[in-house]
Amino acid sequence: MIARYREFLPVSESTPIVSLGEGGTPLICSPRLGEIVGRDCEVYLKYEGLNPTCSFKDRGMTVAVSKAAERGASTLICASTGNTSASAAAYAARAGIRCVVVLPAGKIASGKLVQAFAYGAKVIAIEGNFDDALVIVRKLGGRDDFAIVNSINPDRIAGQMTAAFEIVDDLGDAPDFHLLPLGNAGNLTAYWAGYRQYRRAGKAATLPAMIGFQAAGAAPIFLGRIVENPETVASAIRIGNPASWKPASQAVEDSKGAVDIVTDAEILAAQHWLATKEGIFVEPASAAPIAGLMKCCDAARGPAYSFAQIPEGSRIVCTVTGHGLKDPEIAGTDSDDMKAVAANEEAVLRAIGF
Ligand SMILES: *Cc1c(COP(=O)(O)O)cnc(C)c1O
Repeated sequence: MIARYREFLPVSESTPIVSLGEGGTPLICSPRLGEIVGRDCEVYLKYEGLNPTCSFKDRGMTVAVSKAAERGASTLICASTGNTSASAAAYAARAGIRCVVVLPAGKIASGKLVQAFAYGAKVIAIEGNFDDALVIVRKLGGRDDFAIVNSINPDRIAGQMTAAFEIVDDLGDAPDFHLLPLGNAGNLTAYWAGYRQYRRAGKAATLPAMIGFQAAGAAPIFLGRIVENPETVASAIRIGNPASWKPASQAVEDSKGAVDIVTDAEILAAQHWLATKEGIFVEPASAAPIAGLMKCCDAARGPAYSFAQIPEGSRIVCTVTGHGLKDPEIAGTDSDDMKAVAANEEAVLRAIGF
């Protein structure tokens, strides 16, 4: 990924590139979402679950870890709701650098935790939430030999711009709308920076409206105040005091976009819908923009942004940020379906409903 977009990234000849082949994820057309929006609009999903550790975090991590290696850092450290730690752990292993991840105890989706251990990170669980973990990491990261690899590290944001580059390269221009989940708000910030940089370089003629979706129980930007005890099933956006609050709000304002909320029930319904109607399985946080798109198309629900007036033929991109297998407990397996039947044809046919 760095090789492809080197001219736009903060790397030089002397930067040792630490890569696992991230980026280049598919932009998948979703005809069924297009139908929901109507008026010949096209909806595309940027499927970031197909990165090496199965979330978009790898785009920022390849740059952040390459730069940390260039500086000779001995230890990478991050706070995480799960995916940052999975990604940091993998890229640290690749670079041969120690990795410490500080996590809210009992709050990490099992797939993500498995990854942190598998890649050999030192996992520290704290009796607190993500926001508490980030406060600690900010303090420890001041040490010379430590590199913070949260999105407060500008190298992370720089790397994450590449998703916007890829979308423009695929579509031939920027979309009209870009929808994504909002947690720490680094990714929305990065996409906006990427779209603007690509336009400056003459690669795109237009800019999209940036529309971010928070979970109703973890909606500090929507509410305009810190949320002390954020709660949502979408653990990747369970954040009460986003690190990139200001730049993300600026991006939303400058792009004439919006911030809105979706409930946990809407998130889970959208996750199920996307898997069963389009064959794309994403983790709950990634379903927030899908739930949000549906909300935007339903004037009766009074969304902050209504698609009722959008021009015919608009192009809409939703970033689906992480893979569904990250969080197997949420999707679950239907226990009735898992009840064994006899090992013969008749029993199987009967179970199907014949
Ligand atoms: C990190 C993450 C988010 C939130 O992104 P921010 O940059 O923190 O707003 C959303 N979805 C998934 C799957 C994530 O890993």
